[in-house]
Amino acid sequence: MIEPMRIVKSRRKTIALVINSDAELVVRAPFYASNQDVMRFVQEKQDWIERKTEEMKSKKQERPTLSLQDGEKILYLGRECMLFRGMTKKICFDGKAFLLPESTDAGTKLVTWYKKRAAAILQERVDTIAKRMYVLPEGVKITSAKTRWGSCSGTNHLNFSWRLIMCPPEVVDYVVVHELCHIVHKNHSRSFWESVEKVDSFYREHEQWLKENRRIMEIL
Ligand SMILES: [Zn+2]
Repeated sequence: MIEPMRIVKSRRKTIALVINSDAELVVRAPFYASNQDVMRFVQEKQDWIERKTEEMKSKKQERPTLSLQDGEKILYLGRECMLFRGMTKKICFDGKAFLLPESTDAGTKLVTWYKKRAAAILQERVDTIAKRMYVLPEGVKITSAKTRWGSCSGTNHLNFSWRLIMCPPEVVDYVVVHELCHIVHKNHSRSFWESVEKVDSFYREHEQWLKENRRIMEIL
């Protein structure tokens, strides 16, 4: 039997099972659920847990690197876009597909393209959302971080990884909201999460999306 790695209790009303990107079982349960309740639920769902764990294990082993070959896909704002190599010097993008040069620096050029788009998109999202939240960040910087999507410094400078724009727009906005909330709350306290929820009531789903798709940080 696969046992839970962690049981997270909260104000939720039902028990839910999550297989995280490390193929471990995490159980979310209401405060009032006893350990017996949780274990019974886990036992009943063993088939599902085993299937999902196997799926996640094989996903983990896939190398998330791009070889930049014709027909390969890369995410841009949550959409899968196809890559093609051809007669071009710069990156061309039509909203659905990328045309990359045949030269060996195509990967570097693609990263530069993403960084530029990330700078424009994130600056715009920060400006718009900060106004709505009545907070004033000091500035926005784009990094190549592979371990964190965003951060907020003690002096309220915001950093975002360019990789964030591979995520769907609502997830990008969630990370922006999250970092903007750190201007007021320099921690992950209950009042921090309450202020996140006020602006993004689906933040749990977005946080979950980021957890499940951590692998895309490894690309390029
Ligand atoms: Zn945070």
